[in-house]
Amino acid sequence: MHCYVCAQLGKETVAIATCIVCGMALCQEHLVRADIDMWEGGYPIPRQKTSKKMPRILCHECYSALK
Ligand SMILES: [Zn+2]
Ligand SMILES: [Zn+2]
Repeated sequence: MHCYVCAQLGKETVAIATCIVCGMALCQEHLVRADIDMWEGGYPIPRQKTSKKMPRILCHECYSALK
């Protein structure tokens, strides 16, 4: 799988992760690894089991949308 953002730019970079929100494949340069709070609704991990912030892999777009 190739990085979606790079593909848009005409480059073929091997993806090393996927955004957990939109599922976009991302390379090192285009991923954001962030410690963010659980957000409301639908996430598969039960809210009460996560007392700490959990690190997530996100794309830049989803990261800026969640801040
Ligand atoms: Zn990329
Ligand atoms: Zn995303």
